[in-house]
Amino acid sequence: VMRKDCPADVEILGRSTWTLLHSIAATYPTTPTPNEQNDLKSFMGLFAKLYPCWFCAEDFQRYIKKEEPRVSTRDEFGNWLCEAHNEVNKKLGKPTFDCSKWQERWRTGWKDGSCD
Ligand code: FAD
Repeated sequence: VMRKDCPADVEILGRSTWTLLHSIAATYPTTPTPNEQNDLKSFMGLFAKLYPCWFCAEDFQRYIKKEEPRVSTRDEFGNWLCEAHNEVNKKLGKPTFDCSKWQERWRTGWKDGSCD
């Protein structure tokens, strides 16, 4: 029988959102202009307010108040985001991710060529 598509649950929503956010980090300029830095800061602030899982959003808003998004270079933002994601991983009892590998996971593909 045909399986119909259903509204996103917290897991599907989360997985797709992390894909979007880490991909934004991957395409963020290596040396962003002051304007680009402000845009990313505003985006993260609004994202945290609008994220459509209210208890996730509440915790994430608290987190970015404590740990302000670092947006001065691509690598800084990628690492900041990786740390923020790890905070959620810890809360959910998931393994943490080695942030020195964020570019391999989300931008360049793995050094062993497995994404080529
Ligand atoms: P995900 O955590 O979705 O990760 C997807 C992929 O990203 C992984 O397979 C891995 O390859 C990679 N990855 C993992 N960790 C990192 C990292 N640190 N840096 C870079 N890449 C990484 N769910 C809840 O139940 N409660 C919550 O309070 C909650 N809060 C959330 C807050 C936000 C802002 C977001 C975006 C999601 C939240 N979620 C929450 C969803 C949760 O984080 C997961 O997305 C969901 O549980 C699905 O998990 P997953 O195992 O598929 O991997």
